Amino acid sequence: MGAGTRAVHLGRPPHQPDQPLNEPITPASTFVAGGDREYGRYGNPTWAAFETALGGLEGGRALAYSSGLAAVATVLDLVGHGATVVAPRNCYNGTILQLADLEARGRLRTELVDVTDTDAMVKACEDAALVWLESPTNPALEVADLPTIIAAAHEAGAYAVVDNTFATPLLQRPLEHGADLVVHSVTKYLAGHSDVLMGAIVTADDQLHGVLKGRRDLIGAVPGTFEAYLALRGLRTLHLRVERAQANAAELARRLGEHPAVGEVRYPGFGGIVAIVLAQGAMAADLLTHKTRLWVHATSLGGVESTFERRRRWKSEPATIPDALVRLSVGVEDVEDLWEDLRVALDDLTG
Ligand SMILES: *Cc1c(COP(=O)(O)O)cnc(C)c1O
Repeated sequence: MGAGTRAVHLGRPPHQPDQPLNEPITPASTFVAGGDREYGRYGNPTWAAFETALGGLEGGRALAYSSGLAAVATVLDLVGHGATVVAPRNCYNGTILQLADLEARGRLRTELVDVTDTDAMVKACEDAALVWLESPTNPALEVADLPTIIAAAHEAGAYAVVDNTFATPLLQRPLEHGADLVVHSVTKYLAGHSDVLMGAIVTADDQLHGVLKGRRDLIGAVPGTFEAYLALRGLRTLHLRVERAQANAAELARRLGEHPAVGEVRYPGFGGIVAIVLAQGAMAADLLTHKTRLWVHATSLGGVESTFERRRRWKSEPATIPDALVRLSVGVEDVEDLWEDLRVALDDLTG
């Protein structure tokens, strides 16, 4: 089955008379005793439907969480006390902040590396217990050599984890490259409509799946049934949304590169996220984000609507991200409308 067919068909009730086509929302804190679920923290049929669909897309078994960062925290908790975690220096800011917090409390050691420097990453793997990868990175849009770094992590006996939020399983399936775990902020492309916070972990390793499920049962970072329903409803059109966002992004990246107000365009050649560095600096970037009519000034990404922001407006964003970098989450609107809105605002900047 192709990815589009999987996105549409997986995780549905059986084709039987009077069954609904979609798994319903099941509000339940408890279930009649004697089954596998028993209690609302241990499982819910609506999460299970979402997990079936996402697992089928990534090629493993999925577990849903209350947010992407809850999934990140769950994965980082796999390593022993004082162990070393290697991560990209420019990866998602929330992940960097979690690592810094864990390090400050003596829970683990972190080594932040330029993820595009494969030799440096491979070298850093030597003393790692867990190698965190994100590719493309948020918001620098750096691409990692996943197969090489995953192999180096395994050589060192470390877990290899890939945050696949930007690429989605349609453009990249890290489990096929040997990754032990894939992490998602479901909040972004998978749900895709800027109305849900949810996360997920996917693995092809049954033992790891069991460990993670046990931790989720204990800690309780579970999604709501309504959220899981919305996420699955969003997932049904993932292939259409990603295809359109990617086509729009590629075209906008090309046109932005020719505009005099834009000093640099970063686009890895796939996906729906583009970053630009304004030639006239951070003030120009802030002006841009307030001059448009369609593009919404907002954080987050991966929704049907186009949004953008200057990332360094967040004090915690690392200084390795240019001050004038604006991350554009390209939506599924008509590309000519998106361009016209941007072009007018950019023309205004160059006066
Ligand atoms: C947003 C994001 C997260 C965190 O997910 P939440 O759902 O906001 O908790 C993790 N990784 C990446 C790459 C993200 O963009």
